Amino acid sequence: MRRNRKVKILATLGPASSEQSVIAALYRAGADLFRINMSHTSHDKLRELVTRIRAVEHEFGRPIGILADLQGPKLRLGTFASGPQMIEIGQRFTLHRGKVDGDRNGVHLPHEDIMDALRPGHRLLIDDGKLRLRTISNDGETAVTEVEVGGKISDRKGISLPDTILTSGAMTEKDHADLLAALDAEVDWIALSFVQRAEDVADVRKIVRGKAGVMSKIEKPQAVERLDEIMELSDALMVARGDLGVEMPLEAVPGIQKRITRMCRKAGKPVIVATQMLESMIQSPVPTRAETSDVATAVFEGADAIMLSAESAAGAYPVEAVETMSRIAEAQERNEYYSSILHAQRPDPQQTGADVISSAARQIAETLGVAAIVCFTSSGATGIRASRERPSTPIIALSPNRAMARRLALVWGLHSVVGDDARSLDDLVDRSCRIAYEEGFGRPGQRIIITAGVPFGTPGATNLLRIAFIGADGLSGI
Ligand code: PGA
Ligand code: MN
Repeated sequence: MRRNRKVKILATLGPASSEQSVIAALYRAGADLFRINMSHTSHDKLRELVTRIRAVEHEFGRPIGILADLQGPKLRLGTFASGPQMIEIGQRFTLHRGKVDGDRNGVHLPHEDIMDALRPGHRLLIDDGKLRLRTISNDGETAVTEVEVGGKISDRKGISLPDTILTSGAMTEKDHADLLAALDAEVDWIALSFVQRAEDVADVRKIVRGKAGVMSKIEKPQAVERLDEIMELSDALMVARGDLGVEMPLEAVPGIQKRITRMCRKAGKPVIVATQMLESMIQSPVPTRAETSDVATAVFEGADAIMLSAESAAGAYPVEAVETMSRIAEAQERNEYYSSILHAQRPDPQQTGADVISSAARQIAETLGVAAIVCFTSSGATGIRASRERPSTPIIALSPNRAMARRLALVWGLHSVVGDDARSLDDLVDRSCRIAYEEGFGRPGQRIIITAGVPFGTPGATNLLRIAFIGADGLSGI
């Protein structure tokens, strides 16, 4: 099974999409990877979801990527014993250090560091900024606030503190335990929420030790100020527009999205655009025009992947949301302006074997109109460099390492396949032609390009480019 799309789709799983049949339907509809949000997932549930995704992978015979998204120091309210409450502008609302049941006058705030740091005048933005409280007084035990923007308040809603400096680091005790459980379940990517410094990423890397890719979610102004060093230590970045749009002025988000996607394309690090892409599809079977245009923008920017959150996790139309996203993306990639817009941002190759061969492969492939570029990549690095060229020709990334094939599911334009390294030049050509044929990319008589490294089996030594014809039987090449 092959996709007719370069940009990848990352679908979040949740209550609307935990059954294996739904996960299979999401995959069929176009999801290339699944996100498991550790804010809402127990370790038992994590293992269960991973088992189900692996069963779907087996059913379709294609590598599927799994991303475990660590909650990070996400601040949340306590709970309300008698359900959601309405709070009104001008009223007092008290935050309690001690465990109390919430009501319309106040709620438990289960973060001691906030209770220590909150000062009169500081704002608390609740539920992605839908509600706003301003601190009037705080004695450390109870903080009294005034409601400046009211509305419905309910269990464990998120809190942002644009005025308060907290001392906590990026990884909480929960994150640490979740990270170990996710590595144990052999997920392919770990996402780190609310990264503020490069050290936050370095801490995670020390634990992950190459067992998964490390993705930093850019959702705090502190991270936007240190993008270079954070990107350097990360394997991928996510433009996490949900929290970014709360912590920064909304109108700054589109420019930051452009900056991050350009930086990542230049560096050759996968970049994901996330949140509210088809938000109205949580309740509606069709998106708005503006959402359609938002998905299109990310596609034209050349993002590696676009993400669905509540649309696939908790909405009424999870499968339709993936289908719609896929259809929008495919239409843009067929658009007459697509390639010129995409290529306006193409970065120059660096002075490495992998880069000059990837660049030459793209030029030859586009000039000759070959059926596919088959790229032997054991560490995944050459596959990512081939994708960095954003060729219009499909790229088949062949890796002997199943975990790497799954990780590459995130990368723009890569169709990853698990397969052994070649034993000889003839074997290399035969194997590449057969895979291009069997995976549905090339027919007998069509040409392909092969990139690899000799001696075979040495990672990081891409030094060979070969043009081959698929033989009449599809099984061998010339
Ligand atoms: P979240 O991250 O869905 O885990 O909050 C994405 C975002 O903030 O955009
Ligand atoms: Mn977030």
